[in-house]
Amino acid sequence: MSLTPHGFPLLLTFDLDCETMWTARDPEAHKRPILMSQGAYGWKVGVWRVMDVLRRYGLRSTFFVPGQVVEAHPEVIEALLKDGHEIAHHSHTHRWIVTLTPEEELEEMEKAQAAIIKATGEAPRGWRSPAAEVTPYTMDLIKQFGFGYSSNFFDDDSPYLLRIRDEVSDVVELPFRYINTDSPYFQFSKILPGRTITSPPQVLDTWSWELDTLHAEDRLMVLACHPEFIGQPSGAILLDRFIQHALTKPRIWIDRCDRVAEALRPALQAKLGAAA
Ligand SMILES: [Zn+2]
Repeated sequence: MSLTPHGFPLLLTFDLDCETMWTARDPEAHKRPILMSQGAYGWKVGVWRVMDVLRRYGLRSTFFVPGQVVEAHPEVIEALLKDGHEIAHHSHTHRWIVTLTPEEELEEMEKAQAAIIKATGEAPRGWRSPAAEVTPYTMDLIKQFGFGYSSNFFDDDSPYLLRIRDEVSDVVELPFRYINTDSPYFQFSKILPGRTITSPPQVLDTWSWELDTLHAEDRLMVLACHPEFIGQPSGAILLDRFIQHALTKPRIWIDRCDRVAEALRPALQAKLGAAA
């Protein structure tokens, strides 16, 4: 039986990192205009093409956006909101959490929170780490900032309630894995040694096999993409064809993370109660 009344949840999520993808790695990156332009592709071209694909099917998604990007591109945020998408927290500068002091971590949370509230009129409901890392303090902040969900961990194919300092919280974890992200296949740069570009049809096969299995097992699927990669011409065709494949499945529910997390929480809490 499905965990939600709406069927199998498929979450198409997008991390709109733009230039922070590079400045987070190296604060001096802003002195390298061609490197920075690989990030600018996200807000100039990629995000608009992703929006076009989603609009074609009337779908709503979640965009995790660093506070700096929210502040720099109000026109993008406005367009995303107009199409009914969710803007979620993805740090302020995208700096890697394990390199930060607790004070800096708090500042990252606060600044992006303020930027999102200013741009959308609402506090973000979910959080995704800028580089797939957390500290024990991050977990406290997830609770302190009142997030309803987190989409960070790689340890399950089903949603669960996040444990924070050994206590089960009401924060719904929407886990994913690198195989269901776009960067390992498409993030090519001369400063990232060893990367190659994968053929999009191969990735379509991979994601479709993932979906077929997860759907058959009645779990959930979180696809985590970046408009800088999936928003390229062949990436948009890949996204479109993956959506077409997903729509052939019975009881498929493609929606924003906040709505899916709200729908999942009662079932997860009941499951926990039954196991106690
Ligand atoms: Zn990111």
